[in-house]
Amino acid sequence: MRGTIITRFAPSPTGPLHLGHAFSAIQAHDCARQEGGTFVLRIEDIDGGRSRPEHVQGIFDDFGWLGLSWDGPVMRQSERLDAYAAALDRLREAGLLYPCFCTRADIAASLSAPHGIGGTVYPGTCRALDATVRSSRMANEPHAWRIDIARAVAAAGQGDLFWQDELAGAVVADPWALGDVVLARKDAPASYHLAVTVDDAAQGVTHIVRGRDLFEATHVHRLLQELLGLPVPVYRHHALLTDAAGNRLAKRNGAPTLASLHAAGQDGPALADMLRRGQAPPGFALPPP
Ligand code: GLU
Repeated sequence: MRGTIITRFAPSPTGPLHLGHAFSAIQAHDCARQEGGTFVLRIEDIDGGRSRPEHVQGIFDDFGWLGLSWDGPVMRQSERLDAYAAALDRLREAGLLYPCFCTRADIAASLSAPHGIGGTVYPGTCRALDATVRSSRMANEPHAWRIDIARAVAAAGQGDLFWQDELAGAVVADPWALGDVVLARKDAPASYHLAVTVDDAAQGVTHIVRGRDLFEATHVHRLLQELLGLPVPVYRHHALLTDAAGNRLAKRNGAPTLASLHAAGQDGPALADMLRRGQAPPGFALPPP
């Protein structure tokens, strides 16, 4: 229904935006604008160690250059810690979380670590700790909080969890695909999975338009929505803009930043129009949706 759609763009200010971000932001922006809906901006600065104020300012500048506007106040994850703590408490009280003391090296060294869609699936080492060992380690060691997927799936109830994807159709969520993911990190009070799910609901987002690289994450987000009693948005996981050889854009691969294109005198709104017509600038490629 006209006017009821809410979409969002949710960048992490850990580096400057590149053309792939612009393509994603334009899709989410236009999805709302075409329906007379609302488009919100959320700064995903939960990772205090990697987020930088200059990149937040860069996002605002890039939006101005591209001719994109957002509605209402900008949400910042760094100001939402109470909301994440409340969600974690709820899951912890339901017995669905456990503290994890493992380092990345511990997990990589585990011979039993199985592989899932997103890489190594946590082998469950800390899930099996007995209560006494767990509480003495909690008093002395930094720890993350992981979701116990088996318990969480049981708590979510009978039957499959679905989401509606505008491009992929009806998708049955597979919460097992990513294993016992981290919901609160040792070095950050919430993980991406928890913060994004809580915030999309808090901002009333009805349509999540984001890159296909995040498709698998939705398996977990759909489970968290169920456990936390949150509404289920419609998703559109769009194809990713690539370089001419088909490689995903990333700063480390030398993708030009929007700021550098701006500084070189490119016309922002003309570039945005090109991307919205589904055309890639010279040297880039856009696979069909
Ligand atoms: N903050 C995430 C990123 O920059 C995107 C989150 C999302 O769209 O769900 O990759």
